[in-house]
Amino acid sequence: MLKSDKIERGELYKDRNTQVFLSKFLSGEISKLEPVYDHKIGYRYPIVEAIVGEALEAEVFLNELYEAGILKRNLYDKVIYCPKCRSANISIHYSCPYCKSFDIQKSSLIEHVKCGYMDVEENFRKRNRLVCPKCNEELKKIDVDYRKAGIWCTCKDCSKSFDIPVPAHFCRNCHENFTFEDIIIKDVYSYTLREEAKKEIAIGWILVGPIRDFLLEEGFHVESPAFLKGKSGANHMFDIVAYKGETARKITVIDFASSTEDVVPEQPVIALFAKIFDVSPDNAFLVVIPRISENGKKMAELYNIRIIEAKSQEEAIRALKDKIK
Ligand SMILES: [Zn+2]
Ligand SMILES: [Zn+2]
Ligand SMILES: [Zn+2]
Repeated sequence: MLKSDKIERGELYKDRNTQVFLSKFLSGEISKLEPVYDHKIGYRYPIVEAIVGEALEAEVFLNELYEAGILKRNLYDKVIYCPKCRSANISIHYSCPYCKSFDIQKSSLIEHVKCGYMDVEENFRKRNRLVCPKCNEELKKIDVDYRKAGIWCTCKDCSKSFDIPVPAHFCRNCHENFTFEDIIIKDVYSYTLREEAKKEIAIGWILVGPIRDFLLEEGFHVESPAFLKGKSGANHMFDIVAYKGETARKITVIDFASSTEDVVPEQPVIALFAKIFDVSPDNAFLVVIPRISENGKKMAELYNIRIIEAKSQEEAIRALKDKIK
């Protein structure tokens, strides 16, 4: 995932609506967000609408979370809209390819296996039995006495027969008739929370919040996430930046890294080093959950990055308390 996406996610996580919505995923209230069909506007997401206001805003909201890499989406359906009035209340008219009438009769073709006679099913029907019009024998078992040989359509207007009708559309709202050429199609998605985002949120809400509060109590001025401009002119994002003192302020930067495996590899150490090399803070901490690889530990020592290994929130705060005083 791109770094700019991470910055965007950092901003989104701070948004109240995003927090309310994502908490539904984290609590298990939603595992997969599916749209609900509405014959007037197509599909809507009532859970999201309840948070952001209206249907259009819900879509913008979801798309933003998708583009930032927080949500994953899957194609759920396509909605067809009327080109004239934009209603989604559309029906399909299977029509005659010759005269375009949709008044067509759809039938099954049946073949009598024994004599080879083929005709539409209606011509075999005698009350509730099937009887061959050619040899008068009764057809009892499908795939033994007779087989279905496909579909046959007859136009009630021009009387022509054909096997494949052409689809056309009818707007139930404004009564416009139109074809595929003119339709407006929109993709509709279902959404799930990305694993990576789930981890970020867990760290953000469970760790960053309490650590920020702890630093505030200690008299620091805290920003989270924070952007610092480096010597190169580039802006760098840190999970937490804390200052103390008004005139000669001392800057402490803190990043977080976690792994679902047993150890966090050295990459976050390298990433943090690249940033502090440019920004030159007074202190740099990397909080890792649960622990860092041996190689990462060595590199951190070399780069003057202080590692805090913790399995829980309490452990992380305790360790930070010891090191920051
Ligand atoms: Zn219409
Ligand atoms: Zn016709
Ligand atoms: Zn027959």
